Order: sequence, then C-alpha cells, then structure tokens
Amino acid sequence: MTTPLIIAGPCSAESPEQIEKICLEMKAENAVPQLFRAGIWKPRTRPGSFEGIGEEGLKWMEIVRHHLNIPITVEVGNAAHAELALKHGVDVVWIGARTTVNPFAVQEIAEALRGSNVPVMVKNPMNPDLDLWIGALERMYAVGLDKLAAIHRGFSDAYDKRFRNKPNWSMPIHLKRVWTGMEVINDPSHIVGKRDGILDISQRAMNFGLDGLMIETHHDPDNAWSDAKQQVTPKALHEILNSIDFKEPLENMKPDERLEDLRRAVDHLDDQLLDVLQERFAVIDQIGEHKRQHHLTVFQSGRWKDVMESRTQKGVKKNLSEKFMKELLYSIHEESVKRQEKQLREADAVKKA
Ligand code: PEP
Ligand code: MN
Repeated sequence: MTTPLIIAGPCSAESPEQIEKICLEMKAENAVPQLFRAGIWKPRTRPGSFEGIGEEGLKWMEIVRHHLNIPITVEVGNAAHAELALKHGVDVVWIGARTTVNPFAVQEIAEALRGSNVPVMVKNPMNPDLDLWIGALERMYAVGLDKLAAIHRGFSDAYDKRFRNKPNWSMPIHLKRVWTGMEVINDPSHIVGKRDGILDISQRAMNFGLDGLMIETHHDPDNAWSDAKQQVTPKALHEILNSIDFKEPLENMKPDERLEDLRRAVDHLDDQLLDVLQERFAVIDQIGEHKRQHHLTVFQSGRWKDVMESRTQKGVKKNLSEKFMKELLYSIHEESVKRQEKQLREADAVKKA
C-alpha cells in the first residue's frame, strides 16, 4: 500500500519546549509524519490574536531535526519571510490561503525564492477561484521552482457553517486534470475547524485520490495559541491515520482485466451518448430552420421550463442527482440556443449579401 505524504505539526510554533514535546509525543505514539509543519508568521483574520513567534521560531526547527530527523515546512507570506526561511534552511515552504489571493505578494515571494530550488506548496485561495490558485503555482514555476504541490484547505462560505472552510472536491480534481502530475494535498484541519470530522474529510480526500494530508497536531491542543479547537494530539493523529482506509492510486495498478472490461463498456456507452447527441442536435437544427422561416425567437422560456422540469424529474427517478441534471440540461440547452441563433445570423448574412 502506498501511503500518501503526511504533514503534521502545530498551527503555530510557540516555544522550544512546545516543539520538543510535540516531537517526543509523535515518536512515542508512532505518529511521525514525513514533513513537520509549524506556523512562524500567522496571518490572522483580525488583529489581536497571536501573530506568530517570528524568526526566532525558525531556530527551533533544529529540535525537530534532532528528535525526528524529518524535513520542515513553514508558511511564508511575503518576500522577507521567504528570505528568512531560506536563510534558516527550511526544507519546504507553503503559501497560505490569504496570500494566494494576492498576486503581488505571490510574485514577490516567487522572486525571493528564485534560484533556491526549494519545494513550494500553495494553498487554495480563500474564494473558490481555480485560476487564482493555478496562477500562484504558475508564478512559482515561472521563476524556475518546479517542485510544486497544491493544498486544498477549503473555501470560506458566508452561509454554510457546517465547515470552517467548505471543501470543494471538484476543484482539486480539476487542478489535477489541467496540470498533469500536480500533487494535491488535503488539509482537513482548516476545512473542518474542529477535531471531530477530521477523519471523515481525510478519508474522502483519500477516496478521491488526493496525494497527502496536512493535519495540525499539538501536544496540548486546548491550550494552543492558535486554532485550538481543530488541533489533535499525536495520539489522536496516530488513530486517525490508523483508521483511514488508504486506497491504491489507480495509475500504480497493473492493467486489471475486470477494470479493462468495465472501461470498454464505458467507452461503448460514451459512443452511444455521442450518437444520441448528434441526432438530437440534428433535430434542433431543423427546429431552428422552422423558427427562421416563421420569424420566431430562438429562446422560448415556457418550453425551456417544461424541458428543465420534466427531464430533471425523470433523471432524479433514474438516480441522477438534481444538480447534475440541471447542469447537463443547461449545457445542452445553451448549445441548442447558440446553434439556432447562429443559423439566423448566417441566413441574414446570406440575405444581405
Ligand atoms: C495554517 O496552515 O495554519 C493556515 C493559516 O492556513 P490557511 O492559510 O489555510 O488558513
Ligand atoms: Mn492553523
């Protein structure tokens, strides 16, 4: 079984004693991650909370090396942070959600890291904007930093309070589609915002095939200086990791006969789907021609409403989700309307010529 990348450590570095206690407990509980995280500079939503220990904390990372002999990652929010992280030999840096939204800051960090070859992990921006996320990764890549990973930490949502930051699984998956080979790590701690539910979100991330987990871990979570509610003890971290049913990445599998058969069946069904769509659009074109001859508008809201409601109901009965049905119908209908309007424009152009 391939285990994904596990990143763990406190939300914030607080003192040398705290770092040491976490390390010793991780070792004792058999919960040593592959990469140790600690926030040194903390971008807080409102002033007055603990804003991080600063440069001094970077020296404490030696404690991690001494006890666990694993690499260390810290968050950098500007060029000065990036320079200090490099100066103190931090192994990996990450860019936080509040920084990813700001292309000026991201560019400044990229310039400061240029030539260092340091791996960079970029958290998703606060808002669900895939381009902004990709843009930040591209700014790193453009200065020659090619050891990149993304972190899905969810998106703030004004209304849905089930999560601290609501996950949006289609976004990390789409990122992996458009940037082949991009590793996407999941951060259940900042998604859930409390201890309960971290296992569930971690399991879902693994089911989808994400590449790792970043879990905030503290020896005394209740008294942590930041994010006290969501941090887990090294013992709980061990339990979480032990309870996850890790899946094998499909790419690593030898071609399996059963899967090959099923995929052939899907290929065949997709061909049928395309034939049906081709036929449907041929009829749409005939309707378009009829509308043109009779000077009718292309879009008719009553008909659209009927199509939408009846097809959605039928789809739901066939165990297709309402959201999927609506998106599918919008997409098909939009294409139909555009085709028919194009027919009108082309006929007009012929008339005028
Ligand atoms: C953090 O990792 O502690 C952090 C501040 O995260 P985010 O940028 O996801 O809010
Ligand atoms: Mn945190």
